[in-house]
Amino acid sequence: QDISSKSIRQTFLDYFIKEKNHVFVKSSPVVPFCDPTVPFVNAGMNQFKGIFLGTQVPHFPRVANSQKCIRIGGKHNDLNIVGKDGYHHTFFEMLGNWSFGDCFKEEACKMAWELLTKIYKIPPAHLYTTYFAGDQQLGLAPDLETKNIWKSIGLKDDRILPFGLEDNFWEMGATGPCGPCTEIHLDHTGHINRSQLVNMGLHDLTELWNIVFIEYNRCPNGVIDNLPKKHIDTGLGLERLTCALQNKLSSYDTDLFDYLINAIHKNCSNIPKYSGKFGEQDWNHLDTSYRILSDHTRTIVASLADGIIPEENQKLRRILRRCFNLSQRVFGKEQGLVTELSNYVVENLGGIYPEMEKNIKQVHHIIKFEEELYKTLRESAEKELKKLSLGNLNLDSNDLVEITPSFVLAYKELHSILPNEIDGNMAFKLYDTYGLDADSIQQLSDILHISFNSSSYAKKMNEVKLKSKESRQIYLNSPFNSLANSDLMKTDDSAKYSYEKNNSKYTF
Ligand code: ATP
Ligand code: MG
Ligand code: MG
Ligand code: MG
Repeated sequence: QDISSKSIRQTFLDYFIKEKNHVFVKSSPVVPFCDPTVPFVNAGMNQFKGIFLGTQVPHFPRVANSQKCIRIGGKHNDLNIVGKDGYHHTFFEMLGNWSFGDCFKEEACKMAWELLTKIYKIPPAHLYTTYFAGDQQLGLAPDLETKNIWKSIGLKDDRILPFGLEDNFWEMGATGPCGPCTEIHLDHTGHINRSQLVNMGLHDLTELWNIVFIEYNRCPNGVIDNLPKKHIDTGLGLERLTCALQNKLSSYDTDLFDYLINAIHKNCSNIPKYSGKFGEQDWNHLDTSYRILSDHTRTIVASLADGIIPEENQKLRRILRRCFNLSQRVFGKEQGLVTELSNYVVENLGGIYPEMEKNIKQVHHIIKFEEELYKTLRESAEKELKKLSLGNLNLDSNDLVEITPSFVLAYKELHSILPNEIDGNMAFKLYDTYGLDADSIQQLSDILHISFNSSSYAKKMNEVKLKSKESRQIYLNSPFNSLANSDLMKTDDSAKYSYEKNNSKYTF
């Protein structure tokens, strides 16, 4: 019998709380309160940003939690990979431990290694570590201290690999706390052969745990400043760890997802079962659709339960519409599938994140509302499209995913001018006037057979963003910001309650 994800999560918390003097802090909501630098909470450290920057005093020197994270948009955006591989999700749980100016590199590495190899019993032969190779431009030296720590723990040289800024220098967003990191990767070739891996959308190695040495702050002008103190910030993906410990090939085969995959099948008649195929082997995209729908449903429940409104968050709305579209087109369910699936998510995660259970009515209400809206919009867009005799264009049903009246209006306008290219300025106008993002503009240009200069669009967007940065900074520095954050940091009674409740419920 597999070890359950619940007990894996609990073991992590127990290790740091009972054995290593950490205090449990509940997951912050996925809404980044008063922090406009990220669209959603993308890592466990977000709620501690003020502590790292030195503007807030920590309540405890060491804390641990499991944080609800969403990676859609911003510096960490995994939306386009989701479904194509087995280990990137839009919503995932990040197990984390922190030290605020307390212990540093050596202890952090030792604890992580002990937990993985002694308690979870992952064979050391299946693990690799990485360290920061330094960066000349930023004037940062290679992190040989960390390399030596891994050596002293007993790893051989060929298991300690250096990487540059991209992989081993963690940053929350374009600005904010950052620092070199060391990562622990799992080598799947220990139990899966390489050709199977390729078919699974897996590389030889998957990153499991990132241990960040927060020492710097990236300023709006790009400069890296020293922080007043040095901190530890770690993130271990629960889905990936569970996949490893349950000996599965992808997260979708673990108990964090399999119930949802089964629920989709159960709720849709005449649809073949999920068969776990990736890439070209999944020629009809059915398995990919199963993965996307189950992934997105978790994101929807987490976001709505935390009070995010699709009206105000187009990224969430996009996710919802993708799900409605998949339900109808692939799974043949006209309505209600996403609502039904949301119940399963709450059943699976509600014990850990009680706000999901508490706000289930709100979750249902908004999904239903959005589904109605989507249906109406889609119908009117289809009518408009017919009027424009788009029928002749032989649209793939995929093209209709997010066709809204504003998309049709943009189409109408472009169709009347038929430019040679959608350049940065024109694309920005489409964004500004019709609310189309880069993906929709690309889609539009494909339908009209016009090229889309996405790099000039990105440049234009950057210019616009830079201009608005100053006003954002004022917002960020407002006293309200630190107040809101410090509130999240408190281990209030409900947090303790949920830890204790889970504690008694899931430890054996
Ligand atoms: P990757 O290189 O695989 O994209 P990352 O370097 O972006 O991961 P970090 O920002 O270092 O990830 O986050 C810490 C940990 O969170 C990762 O080591 C991984 O276990 C987990 N994680 C990151 N992104 C995702 C995701 N999209 N879905 C599931 N787990 C994730
Ligand atoms: Mg990533
Ligand atoms: Mg990485
Ligand atoms: Mg990483």
